Formats: sequence, C-alpha cells, structure tokens
Amino acid sequence: MDFDYPPEAEAFRAEFRAWLNENLTDKYRGDGLGFSMEMSPDRVEVLREWNRLLAEARFAAIAWPVEYGGRGAGVMEQVVFAEEMHRSGAPGTLNPLGLSNIAPAIIAHGTDDQRQILLPRMLSGEDIWCQGFSEPEAGSDLASLKMSAVTDGDCFIVNGQKTWNTLGHLANYCELLVRTDVAAPKHKGISCLLVDMTLPGVEVRPLVTITGEKEFNEIFFTDVRVPISALLGPLHEGWRVAMTTLAYERGTVANLHLGLRAKIGGLLKAAKENGTARDPVVRQSLARIYLEGELLKLISERAISDAIHGRDLGPESSIAKLLWSEAEQHLGEVAGEVLGADANSGSWGRDRVYMRALTIAGGTTQVNKNILATRVLGLPKGP
Ligand SMILES: Cc1cc2nc3c(=O)[nH]c(=O)nc-3n(C[C@H](O)[C@H](O)[C@H](O)COP(=O)(O)OP(=O)(O)OC[C@H]3O[C@@H](n4cnc5c(N)ncnc54)[C@H](O)[C@@H]3O)c2cc1C
Repeated sequence: MDFDYPPEAEAFRAEFRAWLNENLTDKYRGDGLGFSMEMSPDRVEVLREWNRLLAEARFAAIAWPVEYGGRGAGVMEQVVFAEEMHRSGAPGTLNPLGLSNIAPAIIAHGTDDQRQILLPRMLSGEDIWCQGFSEPEAGSDLASLKMSAVTDGDCFIVNGQKTWNTLGHLANYCELLVRTDVAAPKHKGISCLLVDMTLPGVEVRPLVTITGEKEFNEIFFTDVRVPISALLGPLHEGWRVAMTTLAYERGTVANLHLGLRAKIGGLLKAAKENGTARDPVVRQSLARIYLEGELLKLISERAISDAIHGRDLGPESSIAKLLWSEAEQHLGEVAGEVLGADANSGSWGRDRVYMRALTIAGGTTQVNKNILATRVLGLPKGP
C-alpha cells in the first residue's frame, strides 16, 4: 500500500493507548457487545458514563472539528483510533448513528443554535439520537416517503409512521425526514427535522428481532407539534441534508475488516484445536473466508489511501459494504462447519442470525449492486 503510519498517528496511538489503560475498566468493557445488545437501563447509564469520559478527553468523535469537541483528526488517526478501540475491547459511544451520520448534517446545514446546543449533548451521550428515514412503504426508494409535516403558525404538525429505527427505544432525539410539499417531484418536497422524541403524540414501539433483542422500532407520530426551529437546512431540501453523512468519518471503513478478520482468526484457531482443520472441505471453506477478510482489508486500505492523497472517494465504500456484509454471513456458515452445534449458542449463535440483517441495513445488496453496475461498470440502468 502507498501509505504508512505517520509519526503524528503513532503519537496519537501512544496517547490514546495510555488513556485507555487508565480509564477502560471491566465495568465499561462489559460483554463487549456495545449498543447493539438489548441493554438494561443500568447498562445504558454505565455506557453513558463511559461516553462522557471519552467526550471529556476529546476521544468521542476525533474526526469532528475542534470547535465542536473533536480533534479535527486526519484519516490515519481515525484508523489508529479504530484499531485501538478494537484491540482494547472498548465499547463504542451511545450515538453511533448520531456521530457519523447526523452530526455531519447538523454541522453542514444547522443554525448556530442547533450546533451549539445539540452537538455537545450528542457527543457526551446526554442525548441519544436515532434516524427516522424508512417507512413501511419507503425503504430502498426512500424518496417516496409519506410522513407529512404541515406548517401551522410556529410549528409543523407531523403525522405518519417510521420503521426500523435503530436505538429508537433509547433515543430522545430523531433526525426525521418528512414530506412538506406533496405537489413537488418526490426528491424536492422533503424536509429534515430534528425532533425531540418526548413531544406529545410520539409513540415508540420496539420490534423484537430474530435474536430476541429489541434493537429497532416503529415510531408513530400523531398530530405532533414540532417547532419550526427544529427544521435542519432549508424547507423542502431535506434530501440534500440527508445525503450529508459520513463527512467526517472516512476512517470508519477500517472498522469493517478489523472485526471480521479478528473473528476469522478465532475460527482458524478453533479449527486447528478441534481437528476440523484437517477436513479437506472445511479447509477450503476456511481458505475462502480468509481470502474474503484479506480482500476487505485491501479495499479498505485503498479507500484510506484515496482519502490521504486527496482523491475523491471512489466506489470502495460501496464495495466494502457489499463484501463485508456477505463475508459476515459466509463466516457464520463456516463457523457451523468448524464448531458444529456449538455455533448455535453464545456470540457465534447470535452472530449467525443477526448478520442476516447486514445485507439489508444501510442499503441492500441488490441496490448496492445496481449502483456499482451503473456507476462503476457503466452498464445501462435496469428497466
Ligand atoms: C439492522 C437494520 C437497521 C436499520 N436501521 C434503520 C434506521 O436506524 N433508520 C431507518 O430509517 N432505517 C433503518 N433501517 C431500514 C433500512 O434502511 C431498510 O431496510 C433498507 O433501506 C431497505 O428497505 P426496505 O426494508 O423497505 O426493503 P425494500 O426497499 O422494500 O426492498 C425489498 C427487497 O427488494 C429489493 N429491491 C428494492 N429495490 C430494488 C431495485 N431497484 N432493484 C433490485 N432490487 C430491489 C431489495 O434489495 C430487497 O431485497 C434498518 C434496517 C436494518 C436491517
């Protein structure tokens, strides 16, 4: 690869590692599952405390600009951060969606008040944020969303339903996409609101997933009066606002291969220990999944290289998402070959069912393939 860890990144590693050694106790480490596990209220408070410690030391969102509590960190520092979090088993923050997706939109399109009030509370974990984009009839084709917001004096009156809202049951704020102009073409009549979820008329109903966890939710809005000051960006320009994501988090792509390759390493070790590594069929499966992990690492490094050298982000993030989500599912199948019935319990058991969601969340595999077909391969659009 055409990059190395520069001295500043290694200096950052030393600083962050020392800080982790001092602050990351077993109390915070917990079960290592972070926010995705259905959490008890006690665990939420422990993670909030951990989140506050990270924020006070300016480690909660290092890529954010300094004025908002970040460090304006470059890509290699972000990569180092991901590596050290991973190495130490530290839980992430309570606002994975907020920090990487919602904050960049607030920084780019928000008013001074929105930035000054909302960003510090998001950073410290005082507020937990969810994203209200998908609806029962609007997922891949998000721009067909119908939730209505009609102006009435100094408020919008919001009615409709959102679905699949990760963290909605814990969140007290939501980045909500609503339709404010029904007559305009579908991408043009959408607005983005930053909604206080404690307002009267907001009802959150958790959905229990196949793993038995409450991770995402349906959210119903009935005549909710949302102040006009909650509008993010110009009226009817919510589509542009919603597309402003990941602006400060290009290092996150490194996270994908770190987690996957650690699990592949664990499975290789288990196969050597229990003798399945001598089975010719299992050996082939292990070799295939090992290569998938290494390929993902190379794609991630290419994305990092683009960022370092100031090149536009190419198709690497779409390819990485595709490879990673499918590799995680393949890994579950290989775990079954290596571990037999033991692959159905504990963290392998959970992963084997949970990972089915990865080829849907954040843009489905089919839609991603369509994007790659037209934008990278230059194929004509499908019918
Ligand atoms: C774990 C998880 C977390 C999520 N968190 C959130 C969240 O926090 N906030 C939020 O708003 N949403 C969230 N979502 C929703 C997610 O964004 C949608 O599930 C996703 O966009 C797909 O939409 P859909 O479920 O309506 O499926 P649909 O769009 O109805 O798709 C159904 C099937 O049709 C295929 N398909 C659709 N269009 C095409 C096409 N043009 N060409 C070929 N095939 C196509 C799809 O690939 C899929 O297989 C989450 C989903 C998951 C699984």
